[in-house]
Amino acid sequence: MTMRNPYLKTDKTIAYLTKQYAKLFRRVTAFDELNIISVSHEVYDEALKVTEQEVTRLVKSVYDSYRESGAITAPEALAIVAALMAAYNPTTKYVYQNELDRKRSRFAEGVISSETPVEEVALAKRLLVNMNKQFADDATFEAVVKAFADDGVKRVRWITALDDRRCKECKSRHGKVYDIDNIPPKPHMHCRCYVERVE
Ligand SMILES: [Zn+2]
Repeated sequence: MTMRNPYLKTDKTIAYLTKQYAKLFRRVTAFDELNIISVSHEVYDEALKVTEQEVTRLVKSVYDSYRESGAITAPEALAIVAALMAAYNPTTKYVYQNELDRKRSRFAEGVISSETPVEEVALAKRLLVNMNKQFADDATFEAVVKAFADDGVKRVRWITALDDRRCKECKSRHGKVYDIDNIPPKPHMHCRCYVERVE
């Protein structure tokens, strides 16, 4: 018996990552240009590493609990995550990797130019948390679809999230059936809809 809502696992990953990012941003203690450029690379590179690692664990865990017969290896889960990071996402309108580098560079610019650099650091941290919430959600959705596809499922039913992040924009999709190869992208950021198998 698998869980219906796959994002319960996602929330744990996000909570863990949020703590890790907070630790990383604590390294930013000097605000001169030379220091900020190098520390920004350090912080964002480490953030990328820990995100990749934790979302890979998440993908494996979600996949394994949604797949009826079989499991994936850690390298296979990593390949899913790496592909997601490198692909254009029609919901967010960016390629994850590129957006992460843009965020790093805006963070450095902001801190160097600002009269209140500490606030810029806090802002950068919030933006990183948000971006990776979205990424963890997308990876979760992808893991479920992949598990179904690998089980030979041909069609899925869209289930609109009915939690506190209720998706108003997705209401009309609730219960709709799609070919598994032709699921439309999520209509908005932080959408927590999911799909279930149609036998
Ligand atoms: Zn939705």
